[in-house]
Amino acid sequence: MKKLFLLIGLVLLGSQAFAFDIVYPKKNDVIINAKSTFFVGSSDTPLTINGQDVPLHPTGAFAYVVPLNTGSNTFVLQSAEQREIFVITKPVVKQSSLPPAVFSPFRANKIFTVTTDDAPLRSIPIDAGINRMAHLPRDLKLITDGEKAGFYRVVLGKDKHGWISKTNVRPDTSNNCDLSELSGYEYLDDEDYFIFVFHLTRKVPFEMIEGKPFSIKFYNIKGQPENTFVMNLPVNDILSDRKLMGYSGEYNGNDFILKVRKPIITNSRRPLHNIRIAIDAGHGGEEAGGIGCLGDKEKDINLSFAKYLETELKKRGARVIMTRSDDNYVSLKDRVEIANYGDAVVFLSIHANALPDGADPNKNRGTSIYYYYPQSKPLADIIMDTVVSEVGVPNDKVRQRSLAVIRNTNALSILIEVSYLINPEDNANLINPEFQKHYAKAIADSLEKYFEK
Ligand SMILES: [Zn+2]
Repeated sequence: MKKLFLLIGLVLLGSQAFAFDIVYPKKNDVIINAKSTFFVGSSDTPLTINGQDVPLHPTGAFAYVVPLNTGSNTFVLQSAEQREIFVITKPVVKQSSLPPAVFSPFRANKIFTVTTDDAPLRSIPIDAGINRMAHLPRDLKLITDGEKAGFYRVVLGKDKHGWISKTNVRPDTSNNCDLSELSGYEYLDDEDYFIFVFHLTRKVPFEMIEGKPFSIKFYNIKGQPENTFVMNLPVNDILSDRKLMGYSGEYNGNDFILKVRKPIITNSRRPLHNIRIAIDAGHGGEEAGGIGCLGDKEKDINLSFAKYLETELKKRGARVIMTRSDDNYVSLKDRVEIANYGDAVVFLSIHANALPDGADPNKNRGTSIYYYYPQSKPLADIIMDTVVSEVGVPNDKVRQRSLAVIRNTNALSILIEVSYLINPEDNANLINPEFQKHYAKAIADSLEKYFEK
């Protein structure tokens, strides 16, 4: 019996020894609407695609870009002992002839009621990008004066507007909405936060604006210039010029509660001592994330990085909150809740990057870091500088982007795309435990630099 297994093992090994594996495109006979696509995979023997030699990385990984013509495109992948044919169809796409959306004003203002939790109030009528002014609670009434595309225009001040998606509201049956009154506010002392409670007679649209000074605005308020109440919080004074490290604002009934984290006084020899840091290993369970050239799954790579980072941060005295420690599925909402419930000061989401059709995986390398709130940018910059100088990864830029986990966490929140899964050079790094350890140490070093000042 043993001999038989050994024999089967050898046969399998034998057939693998001269094989190539394709991880992208995921299957044959696909439709791809782009000027080009790529074959990504690995081979341990010379490989050609339509007669052209495919450069192989020492790990066997490759990424090979092929142009696409409209219609059907045939690719022959050939090694000494294996031949596969892929057919990829580029569809004929008709130009959309929809007229451009125009603003149509209402004859009289209409009142709508918010029907969903955390409905985004946007500065422009586009359902994407960095245009959120606030997240509005269910049952809040909005005064609107017109519509455009899928949005109603919300009246905020004299010449000030916002936009609410039609999917987030329903017409208010009374079509009546008095201005709200602000009867006053109070300051509550708390160990970790400056807490301000604003008493309103009904919930109104608001905006929290990070800046010097940090300010809060309530719209549709009676007796205020342009019906807008503005308060510049003495946050910069009370923070004594220390960094803003997280804040939140939400309604509790008709009271609005604003919390701003108090400055954290750190021990200069152990700057991370007792700092609560949430580590979020992207994807997990049934959600694999991207796939690397050698078939490695992003969820496993992210978790491995996250665990090295956990060890490194705990060594330095930090209190680490893991959004997952195993290969299980955790929703984006739960990841946010775990971090907020644990009152994380820093939230680090760890991912590995992918690319769409039309891009060249061989020309994209290194680390990209995303932040949403301006308060998180200085931390993103320090992490980038440190991983570039200590680990030597290419700098693929710090950018602002609206991503759910970094938008909804109350911490200094960033998302790190360590490197590209389908760039053969980057892929070799991503799957190398020494690289992972070194990178985790660099992140921990950068957090120490950030907190020691
Ligand atoms: Zn990812």
